[in-house]
Amino acid sequence: MPIASCTDGDKVKRVEGDVMSEPSTVCNFCGKTSTEPLKRCSRCLAVSYCSKQCQRDDFKDHKSFCHRCHRLDIARARVYPAVRFFHDLQHGKDYKVLLRDMPTEEEYQRGAWCNLVVEILGQLPHCFRFSCLVRDLSGQVTRIIFHDESNVYVHPSLDKGQPSSHGLASSFVPGHFLLLVGVHWRFFKDGLAGIRINDLASVYLIDMSGHAMSPEYRREVENTVADYDCSPQMGNFTDMMRALLYT
Ligand SMILES: [Zn+2]
Ligand SMILES: [Zn+2]
Repeated sequence: MPIASCTDGDKVKRVEGDVMSEPSTVCNFCGKTSTEPLKRCSRCLAVSYCSKQCQRDDFKDHKSFCHRCHRLDIARARVYPAVRFFHDLQHGKDYKVLLRDMPTEEEYQRGAWCNLVVEILGQLPHCFRFSCLVRDLSGQVTRIIFHDESNVYVHPSLDKGQPSSHGLASSFVPGHFLLLVGVHWRFFKDGLAGIRINDLASVYLIDMSGHAMSPEYRREVENTVADYDCSPQMGNFTDMMRALLYT
């Protein structure tokens, strides 16, 4: 999937070929199908409606996704051009914007690599390593555990001619995004799955300064973190076996 190109200000147009850019012929609210492509939500361009009324009636359910989608588009457009360039060179222009489902065991053994852009929701305090909770466009949540020796992140974009470095805990905060290259999935010892970062060079912090979350959006993020169940899942035998196998 190509990285969305930034146009005027905040308005980020999805590029051709982006999976979300196809106008649908199915109304996102009433499910009615049409022979003609329907009008899309102008902010996210991800869903279509047969009428203004259907769009209004769907707003309550749609707005969370819509906001997420909008912020993700801004984030993708803010990937520093040099990073984008090298990323494209190494990995091609296609990369996923969604967390995939957990890989199967077979995929895991093969090394289920993929590249992701995810939103930081918060930090997880009860972990020996620095860890944070992230989510994707679909709202799927997972945790990232950093195994890099360093807790200092060096931002590759040049700030006044010098790369700037920051402590992970002070820069990987809610509202910013991460571009993760070659994601390494893992089942951790507590039986829960997540992403393990071995090398901070595979992580690019997308700074969203200037795009503060609205109070409503921030509340939703905080609630998502509060609802995340990170209690050990070892009671389940399958999970236990997985934990033993993969750790
Ligand atoms: Zn409709
Ligand atoms: Zn929308």
